Amino acid sequence: MNNIPMPPGSSGAARQTPNGFSEDARSLRSMASELLRRAVFPVYQRRQTPSAFRYLRELRGLEFALPEAIQKLQWERLTRLLRHATVQVPYYRDCFGSRRIAVDEIRSTRDFARIPILSKTALQEHSAALLAETGDTRSRQKNASGGSTGKPVQFYQDRFYWEYARASQWFVESWWGIRPGERTASIWGCDRDLPLQSWKERLSQEICQVRTCNAFAITEQRLEDFARMLMTWRPRFVTGYASALELFARFLLSRPHLRIRPLAVKSTAEVLTAEQRSLLETVFACPVYNFYGSREVNNLAAECPAHRGLHVNSLGRYIEIVDEEGAPVPPGVPGRILVTDLTNFAMPFIRYEIEDVGSWAGESCPCGRPFPLLAEVLGRSSDFIATPGGKIIHGEYFTHLFYDFPQVSRFQVNQTALREIRVDIVLQPGVADFPLDLLRRRIGEVLGPEVNCEVGIVEDIARTASGKHRFTISSVSMPWGSQRASQLPRK
Ligand SMILES: [Zn+2]
Repeated sequence: MNNIPMPPGSSGAARQTPNGFSEDARSLRSMASELLRRAVFPVYQRRQTPSAFRYLRELRGLEFALPEAIQKLQWERLTRLLRHATVQVPYYRDCFGSRRIAVDEIRSTRDFARIPILSKTALQEHSAALLAETGDTRSRQKNASGGSTGKPVQFYQDRFYWEYARASQWFVESWWGIRPGERTASIWGCDRDLPLQSWKERLSQEICQVRTCNAFAITEQRLEDFARMLMTWRPRFVTGYASALELFARFLLSRPHLRIRPLAVKSTAEVLTAEQRSLLETVFACPVYNFYGSREVNNLAAECPAHRGLHVNSLGRYIEIVDEEGAPVPPGVPGRILVTDLTNFAMPFIRYEIEDVGSWAGESCPCGRPFPLLAEVLGRSSDFIATPGGKIIHGEYFTHLFYDFPQVSRFQVNQTALREIRVDIVLQPGVADFPLDLLRRRIGEVLGPEVNCEVGIVEDIARTASGKHRFTISSVSMPWGSQRASQLPRK
């Protein structure tokens, strides 16, 4: 028998990795994944959002343009939206008419500020009048949000909004080294669990290479299964609600054998604290990027690798920060964030008060990108709700639940003990009849029979000391410890 020398570190069998998968199997899987990303994903996306790749090319072409060029383009887009609104949107036609605002006379930010702020209450009350009468009405899709503060709103977005949003998302992710269609692990709320998803939803997840852990139904076993699957699948990108990422990171810390090594982590939908960032950087051993968006207007701002603040998506959004009287605040001073969406013509959001507080950085970023920097955003934060059966439910679950109860203008879920939950709701003006029993039953179904759940109609819900509404509050401690990130061992 010939004794053929083997290369160092090799044996006759396929090389094994620490978690038991051969390198050959891994590289085959990587090749298949790359083929899917390069060949199948673009074809699929061109059917779903035909113009998104074109918008992405446009954004990349402007990535290092002069700030003045970006401002000029932004102003042109703003003017186009205002012209559309004043002709085709009854709410704005009346609003501009009664205040004698002529769009052609709006030439400065000061002129623009004469347009009244669109509050969530106004959106709730005038949603029909905010719809454009003509234009691309066929492509508009209904959407809903609990807002930042437990105040449900319903609205419409058109094809242009969705396609530009897709391009904007790919654009900022490219700053982090993430390419469109890259393997993505997501910890996100799903109204329906995997077995109940339609074949179209499942096919989309396969082609887009997304694996999701449902943040509305977390259990220890589900996190374990998800983490084990990711060990093999090796996501390049991890995204989720800040609080859900934190929970997952704490779980991973308690399981030293589970290591997930993406290129980047995106935290979104909630405030990302310095502690959470530090924890995520430690556990995933990669940069963590903060992303600011909402369901009403997504892709508002995102961090670049310099981490000096969040670059505003200036070509799709126009952001103002104002004080209580509506006057612009200088850099460094926190104020109310107003958003104008330059891409949604079906239901224009102009000077929409998103009920988040933020401030301008007031300086340019060393990365050289021309998009202005938000220093910080104090948006929503929510607590998880735990059940005696071991389920952990992300607070966003309740905002989804209230989409089915449009009579509710504001809500708050308060878990005082594992088996004690109180839900307060404020009804819209004029609502005389509300199906309290149905709401109680719906909440009972998810929390289980051991939980004593009280639902009450109240006049108002008190704000926190910071002036924000928290829509879920829990006094129950969550599993997997709460060590400070600075005390954690590096995984
Ligand atoms: Zn930058």
